[in-house]
Amino acid sequence: MGWIVEGEGLYEAHEGYAAFVTADGQTSGTSSTVGVTTQMGRTSAQDTVVPWWQVVGWQTMCVCGWVGKRWERSSTRSVQHEGALDADDARGYHAEDAEILVPIADSGTTVAAAAYTDWKTHVDPLAAAAPPERLAGELTAVLDDVATLADDRPLAALVLLRQAAGRVDALTHAAARAARANGATWEQIGQTLGVSRQAAAERFSRTTERTFQ
Ligand SMILES: [Zn+2]
Repeated sequence: MGWIVEGEGLYEAHEGYAAFVTADGQTSGTSSTVGVTTQMGRTSAQDTVVPWWQVVGWQTMCVCGWVGKRWERSSTRSVQHEGALDADDARGYHAEDAEILVPIADSGTTVAAAAYTDWKTHVDPLAAAAPPERLAGELTAVLDDVATLADDRPLAALVLLRQAAGRVDALTHAAARAARANGATWEQIGQTLGVSRQAAAERFSRTTERTFQ
């Protein structure tokens, strides 16, 4: 139906698309030659088909629930244009956001392309924070092996865990320092580690700022 993120296990959680917006404010990603289908009930038999002339624009959406910019169908166009609306060749529409309130046709961009750019601002930071699948799998496998060892030979497991703990703290500081150097905010670093912005800043600022000076 829409756009997916390349690689790294984000396929299922994030798929973006330019949804159709109906006059009563509903959104839909499903359409046919007669109009768009909005899900009113729990079964497809209860779905309602909204005719094309009642479609007022598009909304950038992601299956995770994220909602982006809205693109209004221009009024002159909606009178003349009663056929199917395809975001892939729609031009001359406006975004509700005042900063980009220019006819899209001026920049030669289709609604689909503009909505895709909008959706990328949502998924790019997520993709940057997604660990490589291979590494994540290997780490899980190693930790599972250590858990098994802990049942059998707990003292041997403790030796390995002590070794790991020593590396983890140093590596966490190094990664936070590199993230700051790459322009990440304390907010982003905190989010990634599951702590507040302040907690992240307090924990890492001494090592990172020292490096910067
Ligand atoms: Zn998403």
